[in-house]
Amino acid sequence: MDLSHLFSSHSLRAFSFEGGVRPADEKQFSKDHPILDFMDPQQEMVFFMLQHQGEPCEPVVKEGEKVFRDQLIGSPKGLGAPVYSSVSGIVKAIEPRLHPNGQMIMSVVVDNDHMYETLPAKFPPASFMELTKEEILERIRFAGIVGMGGDGYPTFPKLVSAMQKPIDHVLLNGCECEPYLSSDYRVMLEDSWRVVNGLKIVLSLFPEAKGIICMEHNKPDAVEALGEHVQDDEKIRICTLKSKYPSGDEKVLIESVLRRQIPAGMKAEDASCVVLNIDTSVAISRAVTQARPLERRIITIAGDCVRNPGNYRVRVGTSFSELLEQVSPLAKRPRRVIYGGPMMGNAVNSLDFPVVKTSSCILLLSSKSPSRSEETACIRCGQCLTACPVHLEPFRLYEALMKDDQTLFSKLNGDLCTGCGCCSYVCPAKRDLTEIISKRNWQPEGAEEES
Ligand code: SF4
Ligand code: SF4
Repeated sequence: MDLSHLFSSHSLRAFSFEGGVRPADEKQFSKDHPILDFMDPQQEMVFFMLQHQGEPCEPVVKEGEKVFRDQLIGSPKGLGAPVYSSVSGIVKAIEPRLHPNGQMIMSVVVDNDHMYETLPAKFPPASFMELTKEEILERIRFAGIVGMGGDGYPTFPKLVSAMQKPIDHVLLNGCECEPYLSSDYRVMLEDSWRVVNGLKIVLSLFPEAKGIICMEHNKPDAVEALGEHVQDDEKIRICTLKSKYPSGDEKVLIESVLRRQIPAGMKAEDASCVVLNIDTSVAISRAVTQARPLERRIITIAGDCVRNPGNYRVRVGTSFSELLEQVSPLAKRPRRVIYGGPMMGNAVNSLDFPVVKTSSCILLLSSKSPSRSEETACIRCGQCLTACPVHLEPFRLYEALMKDDQTLFSKLNGDLCTGCGCCSYVCPAKRDLTEIISKRNWQPEGAEEES
């Protein structure tokens, strides 16, 4: 089938960027399995009051109270997004629970009654074309949508802020460049109408903007599935990128597709762009047309230690340990468990934490990560420099940090580091450059992160 009419008009070639790495994509284990539902968890449901960038929500229910599915249980204070119960049941506890980042986070714990009694929708179903911009934004705010690519920035304030800028492009980011992850790919294939509808909804807020759906070039079936819904829409095109990590990093994506650079501390909107994740677009579609809050998530379960790698639709609040026990028991004992992808995810010691709005993957691997004791001296090979997609000098940044020389670190633009992991990946001396560089400057002073 000739797909050329669907592609971005300025080029049929695959876009790319300088730097980056090409790890084995390892998606073959999960990408060909349709998404399976795991929607009736047996164990208690734990809802963190912090599932977004910003301030934790305030619990608005009490212990012993009956709650319904889609009932507000956490109300935002300041920057944040409301949290809803994804089940009906009784509030068992309001207490801090362990987050995969190691912190204790205030949580509402609900005993699932398995009835899934649901509150009536706050708004009637509607096509976005019948709604004003204010009504669309109110539905997005109400639904508690956040950036589901991992950053968790609340979508409502992101869009409101972008509406003050001359936005000329809305990019849907379907690159999913981390190895093993394939949930966005499955969503593009299986829920393509909602993916495109979410983009059309956001474009209706920015009348001067064009939409570009971006994905790596090795997904012709996703191009075809989405293409059916965009072929009559002159404002939306599909753009493919060479398969390279980190093509899906927001700033790298904007530079690859639009040739615009975003300095440290600036956001996509400062380059007249809005970038949204694929599942965020689906959540926007559900929120606006069906008035449903964000209460479910597609998770990739992968790695050589699980029996049934694949993608699973689960309720926010579901325990990861139960999810694995029920859908993909261990085939062998893992030596590494990673929450997120292997390049940017966190190693965790336990699976006793719940699915949140930003969860994307759980990875169970039999190989060990290199230990710090295996690190050797830098041989000045320059591979980290070549791999860095934002053109930094990782070995010099590392040295500046070892000497606690913050002036040199700033002079070398260390604040631009995105924590992508490419430098550590290529380093023959096994230096943990990313950990040292990115943890030091993860949030530049005075800047708000967003992607
Ligand atoms: S982790 Fe930072 S320094 Fe290393 S390659 Fe990525 S952006 Fe560059
Ligand atoms: S890749 Fe490792 S060994 Fe090579 S220059 Fe960078 S830090 Fe040094």
